[in-house]
Amino acid sequence: MRSLYVHFPFCESKCHYCDFYSIGAERTAASDPLLFEESLSRECAAMASRLGPADGPKLESIFFGGGTPSMTPPESMRRALAPLELDRRVGLETEWTMEANPSSVDRGRLEEYRRLGVNRISMGVQALRPDLLTMLGRVHSREAAFAALDAIFAAGFANVSVDLLCGVPNQSVTDVERAMEELARYPITHLSCYLLTLPKSHRMFRDLPKEDEQLEHLLAIDRFMTAKGFEHYEISNFAKPGKRARHNLAYWTGKSYLALGPSAHSFDAAAGERWKNFSSLHKYASLLAKGESVIEWTEKLTDEQREMEKWLLALRLEEGFPREWLDTELRRKKADAFAAKGLLETHPTRVGSLRLTPRGFALSDRIIAEFAG
Ligand code: SF4
Repeated sequence: MRSLYVHFPFCESKCHYCDFYSIGAERTAASDPLLFEESLSRECAAMASRLGPADGPKLESIFFGGGTPSMTPPESMRRALAPLELDRRVGLETEWTMEANPSSVDRGRLEEYRRLGVNRISMGVQALRPDLLTMLGRVHSREAAFAALDAIFAAGFANVSVDLLCGVPNQSVTDVERAMEELARYPITHLSCYLLTLPKSHRMFRDLPKEDEQLEHLLAIDRFMTAKGFEHYEISNFAKPGKRARHNLAYWTGKSYLALGPSAHSFDAAAGERWKNFSSLHKYASLLAKGESVIEWTEKLTDEQREMEKWLLALRLEEGFPREWLDTELRRKKADAFAAKGLLETHPTRVGSLRLTPRGFALSDRIIAEFAG
């Protein structure tokens, strides 16, 4: 496994739309950060062999996600991860990303994360209009987002991604464009822009924009970012040339990755197996203290799931898929119908391949289900 994910479960407060496993400060006991550090260290010791010998091939990517990893001090990370011997596994080419939130970073601390080895920051901004930030339950202001970006670049990070949300209740296309305009003043190398999705039971669900407005948001983002020289290389992701997220590409191209921490999902491509850790810090900690496994479930992909994944992975990326995959009359007819609607096109540079258009990216869920079904 050449990619490593570590889940840090603490957040300053729980955002209203979030379904990741994370614990807001109001529910975090004073002893939890140390409990997490000790438990993660135990899991690292138990799982290090999954990464192969420490002096073997270098890791391609490390991703610290969460939660809000930037709430964990760098020295605590260093102690927890010591059993992995990352100094020996990280090379010049290893992409090492840490997620951060505007209210939990300052220049001094960012410089310490750099010394630890982090070379890429993914910052959660989500919105820049003050009332949208409040509605989403974000704890930072727009000014804090700009101050954090200033601190990130001042600390010497040159590879910086920003997360934005679109399709937020009361958000207009102009809001989305204005947010991108303000962010594009910084030398960011990557932007992830996700459509806000909520379960039907969520109190904000009925305020979500209608589907055609969501489509407008997504197409406006595509127009704006590509005009600024970013490649729209995945449904929700844009990168300057050479700055595609290598860790996420490992997920999207079906490579293996080891994931540690509560709620983390791992994948072993050779075995076709996926597994997930328990989504509870205290359960995770007590199992590790007893020397037991923290895996909640393991699944072996069926042929049907593999077929679904093949289409899911290929259609979400700009590279698309080879025409030979249209191996039945039905699939060829579907492809013709999608092409006629401007959702699928011949790849401009990859001979014999097809790919989704920006409009196709925006409607990809349905298209993927049609091809894989
Ligand atoms: S900061 Fe991120 S992980 Fe934490 S609650 Fe908000 S969305 Fe969830």
